[in-house]
This record gives sequence, C-alpha cells and structure tokens, in this order.
Amino acid sequence: MYKPIDFTSNDVFDVWTSVCDITSTSDFVSPRSKMIKQKRKREFLCTDVQPAIKRPAPSIRVGSGFKWNLQALAHAADAVQSGGKSPVSALNELGVRVTYTVLNQGGPAHCPSFTVAVNVADMTFEGWGHSKREARASAARVCLAALLARAGHVLPDQTRAKDFTVDDTTPYPVSEFQCLESKSKIEEQTKQNAVTETAQSQIERNLPTSSLFGATAPTPASKSPINVLYENHPGLLFICTYGDGTPLDSAQVPLQLAHSMRFKVVCQIKEQKFEGYGSSKKLAKLAAARSALAVLEEGRADIADSLLPSGYLSQTLADHIANLVNSKFSEMMKNDVIHSKRKVLAGIVMTTDSKVDGAKVIAVATGTKCVSGEHMSVRGRAVNDCHAEVAARRCLQRHLYTQLLLYASQKDPRKPIPEADIEPAEGGGYRLRPDRQLHMYVSTAPCGDGRIFSPHEQLQHEPDRHPNRLARGQLRTKIESGEGTIPVKNCNSLLQTWDGVMQGERLLTMSCSDKVARWCVLGLQGSLMSTLLAPVYPTSIVLGSLLHPHHLYRAICGRIEAYISSLPPPYHLRRPLLARAASTEARTPTRAPSFSVCWACTNTAPEVLNATTGKLENGQPSLLCKQSMFARWQYLIKKLPPLQQSHPDGTSVSLPNHLDTLLYNEAKLLSPTYQVAKDRLFQAFEKAKLGRWIKKPLEQDQFVCELLSADPAALFT
Ligand SMILES: [Zn+2]
Repeated sequence: MYKPIDFTSNDVFDVWTSVCDITSTSDFVSPRSKMIKQKRKREFLCTDVQPAIKRPAPSIRVGSGFKWNLQALAHAADAVQSGGKSPVSALNELGVRVTYTVLNQGGPAHCPSFTVAVNVADMTFEGWGHSKREARASAARVCLAALLARAGHVLPDQTRAKDFTVDDTTPYPVSEFQCLESKSKIEEQTKQNAVTETAQSQIERNLPTSSLFGATAPTPASKSPINVLYENHPGLLFICTYGDGTPLDSAQVPLQLAHSMRFKVVCQIKEQKFEGYGSSKKLAKLAAARSALAVLEEGRADIADSLLPSGYLSQTLADHIANLVNSKFSEMMKNDVIHSKRKVLAGIVMTTDSKVDGAKVIAVATGTKCVSGEHMSVRGRAVNDCHAEVAARRCLQRHLYTQLLLYASQKDPRKPIPEADIEPAEGGGYRLRPDRQLHMYVSTAPCGDGRIFSPHEQLQHEPDRHPNRLARGQLRTKIESGEGTIPVKNCNSLLQTWDGVMQGERLLTMSCSDKVARWCVLGLQGSLMSTLLAPVYPTSIVLGSLLHPHHLYRAICGRIEAYISSLPPPYHLRRPLLARAASTEARTPTRAPSFSVCWACTNTAPEVLNATTGKLENGQPSLLCKQSMFARWQYLIKKLPPLQQSHPDGTSVSLPNHLDTLLYNEAKLLSPTYQVAKDRLFQAFEKAKLGRWIKKPLEQDQFVCELLSADPAALFT
C-alpha cells in the first residue's frame, strides 16, 4: 500500500523534491508563492501585448511528469473552500485521470467505515469515511491539499472551515432513530471503530485543529438508505423527473417549482412506488429511498417495534403530511414566482383516525419576520408575528371559526353536522371530533429553543455535558427586524410598554419554540375562541429538516413537564408525536423575504402579508388580524351556546349585555379556564428557571370590534 505523504510535517519539502521535478517553464523556486505572483503578473502583461506567442501557463510537473496548471489548481481550491464544489468534482475538473479504489471496508452495519485511495498522475492519497462517498471526498481533499501546498496555497481543513456554531443540514442526516439507540450499541460501535483508527489518525494528521479539540469522536452515521435498498431489493428502479413530473429531457424546464420540490424521484420496488422530493436529484433520490425503507420496515412488525418507539409518527404519514403541505404551496404559487420565495414553510394537516386517506391541508404559510414596532396597531389591524408556524396557526383558527359558522347557520345550533370537523360538546360549546387529528408541518426546526443545537455534532446520547447546558430550554424572544432569538434573561425590559416601543425600544415577540410549547398546554384555538371551543391540540409535529428529537421534545414540552401542575381540565400538557419527513430541506444561506404567504382552506386565494407592517401589501388589514378574528367571534357568540366555564372563585361565567362595546382584552377574559391554564404555564417556566414570558404592551388589546354588521360570507372566507 502506498504510504500517504504527511504534508504537515517538516520533512515535506524533502519528500516533495524527491517525487517531482519543477519544470523549466515555470521558474518554480522557493519562496514559491511570491514567485508565482510575480509570474502571474508578467503573464498577464504578456498576454496583453502579444497574445499570439503566449507563454505557457505556470505549471508544475509532478510524479510521472503530468503538468499541473497552477491557476486551475487555485480555482479548484477557491471552489472547494467556498463550498461551491465538492473536492471530488474539483479534482475531476482538473482534466487529469483520477481513479478511486476502495482499500478497506469494515465496521458494523449501522456504522460502516471505508478507506479509499485516489490515484492521480502516479500519486496515491488516502481518505476515510463512513460511506464510500465520504471516503472519496476525503481522499480527493487530501490530494488537492497536497497539490496546492506546492503552489503555496493552503486548503483550510474541513473542520476548521466549518463554523460549528451554525445550524446546518447535512445531506445524509443521521437517522433520528439513532438518537434512541441504546448506549451499548454505541459502545460496540466505538470498539469497532478502533479497527480503523490507523486510517483515521492518518487523516487527523492533516487536521491541525483535531489535536486542539482532542481526537474526533467517531460520528455515528447510517448506511445510505439507497445502498440498503439496493442490497435488499436488487430489481428496484429509481426514476427521476422534475418536481411536477415533467421528464428531465423535456425541452421546457418547469420554472415555477418550489426549491425543495425541484426534482422528484420515484423509487419502484416491484408493485410499490415511493416518492421523494429535493432541491437536487441526489436529495430527491435519497428522500425516495428513505421513504421506501421506512415504509418497508414499518411493514415488518418485528423491527417496527425497535424503530418506532412511542412518540414517533409513522414515516408514511409524516411524508404524506410534508408532501401535502409542499404540494399545496407549489400549486398556489404556480403563477407567482416572487412570492414563492421563502425560508420557512409551515402547514397544518387534518387526518381522520390518523389515516393517510382523507388527510386534508387546512393551512399553509411562509414567513420568518415580525411586525416593526412603529406598525403596531391600536385597532387590532396588524398581525404581529408572521413566522410561518404562527401564521399557519392563525389560518387554522380561520378554519375553526368557519366550522363554528356551520353550526351558527343552523336553526338548531346543537344539531350535529356529520361532515363537520367539530361537534357539539356536552353542556354547551363545541369540540374537535375525537376521530380528527391536527398535524403541524414546519420545513425546519421552530426558531428558539428547538433550533439551538449544532446538527453536525452528534453523540448527544450521553447526558448533556455542554457547559452551556443550563442555558438550554430558556424562553427566547424574536428580535424586531431580525431572524434569530435571544434568551429573555438577556432582555432589558421584561415589561413592554407602548410608548417605550414607539420611542424606539425593540419590540419583542416570543420565539416559535415557545409558542409551540404554549399550544401544547393551551391548545391552538386561542383564548377568544376558548369561549366556544374546547382546546384543540396538535397530534404531531413533522419537520422538513433539523429534527433533533431530544432538543425538539425539550423545546415543546420536556422543559416544563416537571413543573406544570394543577392545570384546570380539559387543559393538559400534550406531548405531540415527532417525525422528520423523508424529503428534507437543505439550508439556504440567502436573505429571507419580508413577506408572508398565508392560506386557509376556507378560501382558494392566499393572502400576502408584508411582515413589517403586519398588513396586506396594499395596506389593508389581513383576514388573520385580531380585528378580523374578533369580528368572527362577535358574530358567533351571539348565536352559539358557549362552553360551560366558571371563574376561579366558582361563579359561572355569564356573557355581558354590552357585547358590542366589549374590548378585545375583556372578551379574552370570558374564558377564565384558559386564563388559569395560561398562568400555570407561565409559572411553570418561572419555576423551571427558564425566564418570564414577555407580553406585548397592554394597549394593543384595548380595541372594540369595528365590523359588527359585516356580511358573514365575507367575514368567514
Ligand atoms: Zn419562528
């Protein structure tokens, strides 16, 4: 076996000069970089004056005499460094014959390891990885680094170039189930990894940072689902088209496809077909394979038990939910390229008996921004928070109000309507039908606590030893005109005031992780609707990427479960099932648009909100604003029997006579049970030392309904 050259040690130059000779045309002498720069400058001048007799490009001769174009090498380095190209393609594009050989293959099935050698112009370099692809990339990188070192360039090592504080998605994410693997399995895997330690340490010598941080812990990586399928189903087929089914060789490339649905791959195994979508063909293929594998494994009861611990939604349903929301959004945005741009996509899907058949999309929304302080409305006309999850939940509320309208339109509002999603509750009011489930899809982890982790640092099976662990679970707020969140503990004022915000204090809004946690206790219906409808909880949360079950669970219910007590029934802590869709989304480091597209199944057309003003782009209030919700409530409260509720002191709630002049915040207090549950929730966060929930200035909710005689047909669309 060829011994790879260690270019980090001092004897590099000796080794180098013995295996290569510098061509006479390049004037390649030490100090190398300086000479090359001068050379390039001369070259440039020469070409300007007499292009016909251009001198050959600076090059070096290595090994058997292949001439390397230094400029091409430098370009390759830039491309790899900027992430624009993989080391393998960069190496391929240098125009030299490249061959890869698998030298070694080992490790357990769930954590294989590969050593691959790359041979270029009679030189061999080795790389190591958990898949052949990873090992090839590693070898190509070592090779490029070696060649570039000759040209005075340094290719920064991969671990150092990566900012490990950044949340990023990996093209081959570790299966969520691995996080639940038993510790013994991990230990066994570590032992197995020791076999490949030699190869590993060879690579590590090229990574200066590894010595600083200690040896890299073996990363658990699963075998690619594609390889598993090929092994178990030799006759399988992968068929790739554009996301809408247009063949790849079609003359017309469909332009209106959402980023995450650009390509579609159908994986066909005998009679069964499995779909996957992705922004690249590779991702779509992986998604289809993952989906196929999950479904085929779910069918086998023996392993389904180990793969599907309680707390997980079935992969088939999770994928269906994700596809329904993504397809609905694509369909809606078919003729609107501008507004199809988005960072986060969220949606709510309703199922009957948790079945795929009959699942329907209730709400779809995009958005990552909040209203600017100066646009807060004293008349309930601005939507404060246009983050996709929050907007989707408001769209769901529109649907629930429309469901209540079905009953309000009947002569006897208590007569059950078989096709409705809600039904009359005993003693007054309504409730979601017991056979209905609501599933929330979000294309990525909700902002705040659920997204505070580094997805590339695995091995979090151990108890969290991170020195920052005490900061985990903290309530966090979105900051005005920003995308990230900060812990409420770092906020200057816990009490927001109207005049303070107008003066220029940043308007703070609780993060989506915190809001989802709130919905898991108080329901999705909100305080106003709670006068008529019993709490409606999410059954599952499906993420399109960045699902870390441990962190997500903590964020949405785990962090308060030990501290929440005496919730007034029917309020309780709901622990939604968690799942990640097989068609995952890649991180897109682009600027987020400042609009939010919102659609509810009550209307065919979506609304486009300017997230900064909280209103429609033409300045009109949205159907999602408080004023609009309040008007629906005002219409219904006069026609429907309210839920039976009593004040904490035992007196039962009765509606005031002056409903028309009731303020919005007074109407909210007509659900005392909801208010008590809300106080318990806030107390739980405080008891857990996770901070205090920050409320909007009081003045925001002191408005009366301005749409008392609105046409219900317009109001409830
Ligand atoms: Zn958010």
